[in-house]
Amino acid sequence: MTKAAFDPGVDDLTTAPEDAAARRDVEPVICYPTDSLPAADLALYRQARQGAVKTDEVLVPARDAACFEVPAGHFFRISSVDGPQVGDLNLWNRNNLDERFYSGKTRALHGTHITTGERMWSSFPQLRPMATITHDTLGWYGIDQYGGAVHDVIGTRCDPYTGNLLAGSQYHHCCHSNLTRALADHQGLSLAEAEPHVHDVLNVFMCTGFTRDTGQYFMKASPVRPGDYLEFFAEIDLLGALSACPGGDCSAEHSSDTAACHPLLVEVFAPVAGALEGWASPRVNSYDGSHGR
Ligand SMILES: [Zn+2]
Repeated sequence: MTKAAFDPGVDDLTTAPEDAAARRDVEPVICYPTDSLPAADLALYRQARQGAVKTDEVLVPARDAACFEVPAGHFFRISSVDGPQVGDLNLWNRNNLDERFYSGKTRALHGTHITTGERMWSSFPQLRPMATITHDTLGWYGIDQYGGAVHDVIGTRCDPYTGNLLAGSQYHHCCHSNLTRALADHQGLSLAEAEPHVHDVLNVFMCTGFTRDTGQYFMKASPVRPGDYLEFFAEIDLLGALSACPGGDCSAEHSSDTAACHPLLVEVFAPVAGALEGWASPRVNSYDGSHGR
């Protein structure tokens, strides 16, 4: 139908057909059953974690971001310190910034929120596990009465463009800007060079969902408390950037200096030699890339 032919006064388009109930009753099918995904060897990772030695730590200041590097086969832990705080996490292949975390595909594979045993997957054409969650102290939270859960891959990252669109603001400490500055400083890039590398995040500790009535993205006060952490196994050499979101615990608002904010701690741990016997860093995806030509 052309736009000219559309008459908004006629509501035929929204009239339910006679078999509407039957059509709605069709049962859903999981888009990507994960049975055939290569499973993470959590037992091996946990064994390797025993006796691992801390090699680095970075304290991410409130309303700011910092970069950190994690060699393949090491662990990294993101901890809440001082007070409830959510973090926006970006990951890149340390040796190739074009390979980066793919929030949308991770969501398609694992669902809206991720926890222990699930992976952060990388972009095309590599599409391989970048990091595996090995411990989540908020694993008990599950899905609450509002449909909320923690550590989502449904949000994007708070950014100054959307703030400007909705409120005409010029706010410079959204996670997008924090991540851009941190990456620029770490890589010796200009802000203009760094910005296109910043991507949709894993919302660490953030409690989110979609409202049942309107399907809108919502947030609520994070259940995280000081001492809680999310720990990962690095499947490939990683460059990470973490922003301590200006939303604080995201109980009320973000994209401003209103919320109480706290730092986040990132620590890196190296397993002892020989602890990962039998493990190999995942290879890039085997699709031949010919796209039918
Ligand atoms: Zn943010």
